[in-house]
Amino acid sequence: VQARRTACKYTLYKGTEDRESTRRLELMSELRSAIDHNELLLYCQPKVSIRSGEVCGAEALVRWQHPQHGMIATGEFIALAEHAGLIMPLTRWVLEAAFRQSYAWHERGIARPLSVNLSAQDLRDPRLIDRISGLFATWALPPELVQFELTESALMEDPAGALETLDHLKDLGVDLFIDDFGIGYSSLSYLQKLPVDSLKIDHSFVTSMLENQGSAVIVHSTVELGHNLGLGVVAEGVESEGLWNRLQELGCDTAQGHFVGRPIPTAQFDEWEAQSPWSHPAPGNHVALH
Ligand code: C2E
Ligand code: MG
Ligand code: MG
Ligand code: MG
Repeated sequence: VQARRTACKYTLYKGTEDRESTRRLELMSELRSAIDHNELLLYCQPKVSIRSGEVCGAEALVRWQHPQHGMIATGEFIALAEHAGLIMPLTRWVLEAAFRQSYAWHERGIARPLSVNLSAQDLRDPRLIDRISGLFATWALPPELVQFELTESALMEDPAGALETLDHLKDLGVDLFIDDFGIGYSSLSYLQKLPVDSLKIDHSFVTSMLENQGSAVIVHSTVELGHNLGLGVVAEGVESEGLWNRLQELGCDTAQGHFVGRPIPTAQFDEWEAQSPWSHPAPGNHVALH
């Protein structure tokens, strides 16, 4: 009986596992064709200056609207793309879309830096730098208008190689952010060598900082560490006015999160901004009016 139970459990387990890997395989080949057939979408999430209460940039976030399965979670298909060696074509798509959007803003006199996320595999791509400098030339965009975000974990996959790529990116004149800062085990001596401009505190610390003393200490210390190193500090996951107020007290520079604005299709960004309280902060009162 025991053996039969084990066998049965195994079959059940194996069944789910097979279904799961079949779905993954299907998704991988569909992702390849979604990239080729331009079926991805570019969303943007605003970044707001905590000092002035004004929109000071946006982050480009890719979306995949699957014809049958609906919106696929971005974390899931980025992981899939990494697994399937599809990051490079995906990044190429995102870069093209981001430069096009950035140009559209620039052309209308809107100076709004747009940041693009890069993966560990992008950092190892020998053609990355040429591709990015080619895009700046094609669109005739000043380097301040496109920025790059690299997660602390991606940097740590190959610290020496990443440092070299970051140096090349900095030579192009762009701003660099360390993303998801605080969960990636980089050493302070490595951090100190990185040619980056800002730290983005991981949302897990930010969202819990009002209830969790440990998170509060991490956020506070990261703001100080960043400023002492001459870096800007961005808080991700700013979901409430309470968090905004606390971050303002701590002197954090920039906020990103649902309280400020959710990611939206890039085409809707201007409309969103025009009616958002962040576009015209009241004189002398730069705090959120929500
Ligand atoms: P990330 O770069 O840290 O981006 C921030 C993520 O936090 C986004 O998830 C965003 O939708 C989400 N978020 C925004 N506001 C809040 C909030 O108030 N609370 C919480 N809990 N979350 C918030 P998303 O868009 O699902 O992307 C997940 C991750 O996938 C990104 O994390 C980034 O690492 C990666 N990713 C997204 N787009 C791209 C891309 O074009 N290329 C690459 N390589 N990676 C990308
Ligand atoms: Mg990011
Ligand atoms: Mg992040
Ligand atoms: Mg994050």
